[in-house]
Amino acid sequence: MPNLDTLIKRLPKCELHIHIEGSLEPELMFALARRNGIRLPYPSVDALRQAYRFGNLQDFLNLYYQGMSVLITEQDFYDLAWAYLEHAHADNVRHVEMFFDPQGHTSRGIPFATVIEGLHRAIGDAGRKLGVQASLIMCFLRHLDEADAERTLDAALAFKDRIVGVGLDSSEAGHPPSKFKHVFSRARDAGFFLSAHAGEEGPPSYVWEALDVLGVARIDHGNRSLEDEILVGRLARDQVPLTMCPLSNLRLRVVDDLRHHPLRRMMQPELSRGLGGVGARTPGNCSDRAQWDQCIADDGAREGQGLGRRRSRFGRERVTPQRPGPIAVMLTAKSRLGSKFSAEK
Ligand SMILES: [Zn+2]
Repeated sequence: MPNLDTLIKRLPKCELHIHIEGSLEPELMFALARRNGIRLPYPSVDALRQAYRFGNLQDFLNLYYQGMSVLITEQDFYDLAWAYLEHAHADNVRHVEMFFDPQGHTSRGIPFATVIEGLHRAIGDAGRKLGVQASLIMCFLRHLDEADAERTLDAALAFKDRIVGVGLDSSEAGHPPSKFKHVFSRARDAGFFLSAHAGEEGPPSYVWEALDVLGVARIDHGNRSLEDEILVGRLARDQVPLTMCPLSNLRLRVVDDLRHHPLRRMMQPELSRGLGGVGARTPGNCSDRAQWDQCIADDGAREGQGLGRRRSRFGRERVTPQRPGPIAVMLTAKSRLGSKFSAEK
């Protein structure tokens, strides 16, 4: 029987919460900066890595937007996505739902088409060459106004066949989901799958708004849902998946210790029965690989340890499709978006 880390590494996995721009590794960032004649405010790759020791979501976002400045050409976006997809393949990730932030690029004068064509070409190559199936979720930046999101949706409609859903990300506090009611309504009418970040730093009321005002089918994070029992009941009743990111939450100080992470409570027997699929559908992952310096396999391992699960749950008991352990349950759960992923693929 392989040890826990090896077992998790070998298991086929799906990654449902990855911001592709956040996966930009320091080495690639420097290479793209050189290629495009851009001067970074860091003297070396090591200095940039040091800067990744941010203290909260806003510090992270400042670095995130700065990193985007090296992405100029279609080939840059291809290289960004391809680098991530190769890492995902090495971790035996089979299915990826990839967030991207077009406003972070169009605001710098980069055409929407440049972004989408580069990402889409890498996704096509990953399907053919690596066997990794990936799709794109376009996020609106919630710190910008709804009119900007509307213009972004207008641009996206020409590429609708390359985007499966829309989401909502960036600074949560002070930017409730209801701010984007109309643009989400239009996106729904256009046939996009709807998701939104809510309850990472924002209160449970933001999760309610995402469900009732935006009409999303999935909540990204949703940690603070546990502060509201009625909301937990709603999530359980409607089987709304939460894509949780324990290591991201730790790095951004959303939680001070993995032992206090809400996923641990969600997986308690008395609660997970009530939550039904929620606990089973909460894959932890890296969210932004470069910034966390960890990957989906690491999160699986941490969930197996820091979140209080005994190693024996993974290491000594047999995990089979008929009797799945928690991680295997997550892996066999159908994605709301892809619907094609299964552990057998
Ligand atoms: Zn996220």
